[in-house]
Amino acid sequence: MHFYGTSAINEAGHLEIGGCDTVELAKKYGTPLYVYDVALIRERARGFKETFDRLNVKAQVAYASKAFSSIAMVQLAAEEGLSLDVVSAGELYTALAAGFPTEKIHFHGNNKSEEELKMALEHKVGCIVVDNFSELSLLEEVCSEQKTQMSVLLRVTPGIEAHTHDYILTGQEDSKFGFDLQNGQAEKALLAAADSPWIDLLGIHCHIGSQIFDTTGFVLAAEKIMEKLNEWSKKHHFEPKVLNLGGGFGIRYTAEDDPIPPARYVEEIITKVKEESIRYGLEMPEIWIEPGRSLVGDSGTTLYEAGSQKDVPNVRKYIAVDGGMNDNIRPALYDAKYEAVLANRANDPKEELVSIAGKCCESGDMLIWDIHLPQVQKGDLLAVFCTGAYGYSMANNYNRIPRPPVVFVENGRDVLVVRRESLKDIIHLDMPLNANAGNYSR
Ligand SMILES: *Cc1c(COP(=O)(O)O)cnc(C)c1O
Repeated sequence: MHFYGTSAINEAGHLEIGGCDTVELAKKYGTPLYVYDVALIRERARGFKETFDRLNVKAQVAYASKAFSSIAMVQLAAEEGLSLDVVSAGELYTALAAGFPTEKIHFHGNNKSEEELKMALEHKVGCIVVDNFSELSLLEEVCSEQKTQMSVLLRVTPGIEAHTHDYILTGQEDSKFGFDLQNGQAEKALLAAADSPWIDLLGIHCHIGSQIFDTTGFVLAAEKIMEKLNEWSKKHHFEPKVLNLGGGFGIRYTAEDDPIPPARYVEEIITKVKEESIRYGLEMPEIWIEPGRSLVGDSGTTLYEAGSQKDVPNVRKYIAVDGGMNDNIRPALYDAKYEAVLANRANDPKEELVSIAGKCCESGDMLIWDIHLPQVQKGDLLAVFCTGAYGYSMANNYNRIPRPPVVFVENGRDVLVVRRESLKDIIHLDMPLNANAGNYSR
């Protein structure tokens, strides 16, 4: 069994995380429950930052908060000296509520609304990553209206295929994101941005995909962008201050995944950009990266209680848990794989091959197909590992199931950072039919 961070089996044979017994956590907070190993998040953050420091490169490591956004998480990112990516008014609002330094916030997205752009300007975020021509002109309008200049990165699509699941590919030419680097769009955007008195063009951004296991894609992307930068420096005297190469660094979900250490991605990216800068006689830009999954993914564990079972003789045995696609939609959406243990009997021999089903009215609501576990009894506690990224952030209320709470654990202390949704919360946006009666009858 692979354990992440501070996860271990204690004397009682229970899984513990951050020095906290998961059986006790489940008793205290109920299930399902997201548990985050704070020490591991810190370790991951420092791993990235130290690599830049060691290689003496000016950098920003921005946490892509879409992976898991909450006030406490954003505050933890601030404590670790990270910058922050947001992609919506909601994520920006969370960052503001957390007191995150606004000059270190980067605003992303392929369809930012006028309200979102105004909000970003009003709060003086560090930069806006401009995705397309409509946004560029909308931003100019908003800036000139408010007589405010804004720092901008242009998101380009370098035409690199990252070897990962198609649904999360964003770097190839046929993409909804960014200005195409090869067909001249990026250059046109560059000239438009350089022309505008309201736009301070900091540099170029690209993000080639997610859950990527080798450095080839990043190195290729850096190479292609540097080639263009050389061309643009000669033609247009444009030299960027910043080159942002995005996130997407892969993590280990199961034994089939074999990621390289985060530092290696950073080292190879830096080496390539340095090489190309020297080759073209360009100034070495600051390198920014935007890890999401690789900062918080393996720090998260979800605890469930085992409930009903269904044995289909000679086919499979289904064990249902008290959560599912509500709190983790990735298996249904991406066919994502996970590992798990019985947290209350972590030393028991694994005697059965079973499949873990969620409780939603959807056949696709399966958390794990085929996993070896001890004979599971109703009431056992199942811990699914590596659910820290895109788990809570994609959680939903399908079947009107309340979203689970989130607990941070560190050095034997547990802190509730998102409370459990109540049944009252479930209906708190609903309006009774009568309140609309006037409109309804007209
Ligand atoms: C999603 C995303 C990230 C983070 O991706 P991870 O796979 O979680 O590291 C970073 N940058 C951009 C632009 C993204 O869309």
